[in-house]
Amino acid sequence: MKFHDIHEECGVFGVYGHPEASNLTYLGLYALQHRGQEGAGICASDGKHLHLDKSMGLVADIFSEKRLKKLPGHLAIGHNRYSTAGSSVLKNVQPIVANFALGSLAIAHNGNLVNAAELREELEKEGAIFQSTSDSEVIVHLIAHSKIGDFYERVIDAVKQVRGAFSLLILRENELIAVRDPYGVRPLSLGRVDGAYVIASETCALDLISAEYIRDIEPGELLIINEHGLNSMKPLNAPRLASCIFEFIYFSRPDSYIFGRQNVNDIRKKLGVQLAKESHVDADLVIPVPDSGVPAALGFSEESRIPFDFGLIRNHYVGRTFIEPKQNIRHFGVKIKLNPVRKLLEGKRVIVVDDSIVRGTTSKKIVKMLHEGGGAKEVHMRISSPPIIGPCFYGIDTPTRQELIASTYKTEEIRKYITADTLEYLSLEGLKGIVPESHNFCTACFDNNYPISFPGERLAQMELFLK
Ligand code: AMP
Repeated sequence: MKFHDIHEECGVFGVYGHPEASNLTYLGLYALQHRGQEGAGICASDGKHLHLDKSMGLVADIFSEKRLKKLPGHLAIGHNRYSTAGSSVLKNVQPIVANFALGSLAIAHNGNLVNAAELREELEKEGAIFQSTSDSEVIVHLIAHSKIGDFYERVIDAVKQVRGAFSLLILRENELIAVRDPYGVRPLSLGRVDGAYVIASETCALDLISAEYIRDIEPGELLIINEHGLNSMKPLNAPRLASCIFEFIYFSRPDSYIFGRQNVNDIRKKLGVQLAKESHVDADLVIPVPDSGVPAALGFSEESRIPFDFGLIRNHYVGRTFIEPKQNIRHFGVKIKLNPVRKLLEGKRVIVVDDSIVRGTTSKKIVKMLHEGGGAKEVHMRISSPPIIGPCFYGIDTPTRQELIASTYKTEEIRKYITADTLEYLSLEGLKGIVPESHNFCTACFDNNYPISFPGERLAQMELFLK
């Protein structure tokens, strides 16, 4: 397994006890599309058999009424997979289904396991045959190979062996099981609709199907939902919580409530307010990089009292099917996605707000666009998160350390590279002051403080990676 293969951020959704389980799962995945666009799948159970359908592409393109009809039953789970280099193949799309001595099971997993490679090697030595390169499959084999007791004990045995981030759904013929890693890295919430239980990566998926939010699945919790109702256990422990702070900054949808009822939009707006406090500059206009910079730009404008407007317009229909002409017109680049509104920008001192800089290529193109196409007099870049200096090993698709511009270059060097008049990031202290109970968050991408350690060889691999 190539190291790159492990970077995956995903969305999961599950239903127990609803006659339209697969239709609801389809809608849930539709609302979670932002968490993964590479492929999607649904596995439903009619009480006797599991029925699976999965494909590459977007949820709405994959599932038709006809295809959903072939997924009957009262229980279902679904998964959206994030696009990642090198592993863009159907076999890595989830749910993963397996048949073994105790029946069939399907799993849908969001997050990265840090010891998947080691576990996989051991399992293969014992004769396990893997269908995919996804680390999630390790969990299936661990359950199948466990020699301990009943099914639940096997699941507990399996999830005790894996380390890292996992918000996990397991479907059996007659029950749905949700497990969240003890660090609480990725979000997972429980809701209710029409007497049925639903579980979703984010609450925006509950809203779409008019489900009532009940609570988060707790870090370290294993929740069984079956004919006996809910049965919650707490088999997993960790020395601390480490919920992903980047879910607030970029990944989750602004209308979602994650990590204990915190509204993502609210946090992002506050980050913008704090950013304005920390990095004021005289200007005529505040504009966001849509869509990711919108809430923070609103907060920035509110605090600085500099007017807000949409100076960049985003084409929402840009997909992976776009074909760039090979001849004559070259390098549409970011213009495919964004276009400046010259009428608003011409001759103005513009503050442009985005949520993050990863490689720096987007910011560079945007500054150029605001100057050239937009006619802006000055461009001041403001970023509503601290510099990203560390790759994520727990599920956010960030590139290697060398590719993260802020891991090598100072802010002033980055400013020169992106050709902005000024560039300011939010401070880490500022960020921690906004999110609730900051000690409970993983901030490794901003401070290299990795809360979940890596085993043996992977550690060496990671250190190589860090150089
Ligand atoms: P870059 O051009 O590499 O600096 O990318 C920065 C842009 O990517 C910003 O507009 C962010 O909103 C966005 N971004 C940040 N993190 C991610 C991620 N994990 N996946 C996709 N886009 C991201």
